[in-house]
Amino acid sequence: MDCLFCSIVSGDIPSTKVYEDQLTYAFMDISPASEGHLIVVPKRHSKDILEIPAEDLHAVIDTGRKLAQRVTDVLGADGVNLLNNRGEHAWQTVFHFHLHVIPRYTDKSRDRLQLPWTPEPGDLDAIKALGDRLALG
Ligand code: ZN
Repeated sequence: MDCLFCSIVSGDIPSTKVYEDQLTYAFMDISPASEGHLIVVPKRHSKDILEIPAEDLHAVIDTGRKLAQRVTDVLGADGVNLLNNRGEHAWQTVFHFHLHVIPRYTDKSRDRLQLPWTPEPGDLDAIKALGDRLALG
């Protein structure tokens, strides 16, 4: 298997490690959207959010929260986005589950991330119909 993030976890490809525990590994994104942009991965390979075992997912979220606190404390981030993409059409480019931890700053010289869409109110009947179709239990 040729997986970039498995190679980073194993050390075959170098990374700037920020945190590691039994189940997760976190490192600096080399194409940062903002100052301090991190990636958290499970050490065990999973393709995406639909495949990752719950134990690994929970561990990644816990690590993401630690690092959200860390960028707030150390870098003075004004906010943090936690972002996961599933599938090529949703901008997933590395098919090993990962959580982006993106510090956000009011100072735009430290922050290049922008919303890719402008929220506008939708059709409430259509929204309700979709909610009914998606309702669980
Ligand atoms: Zn992998």
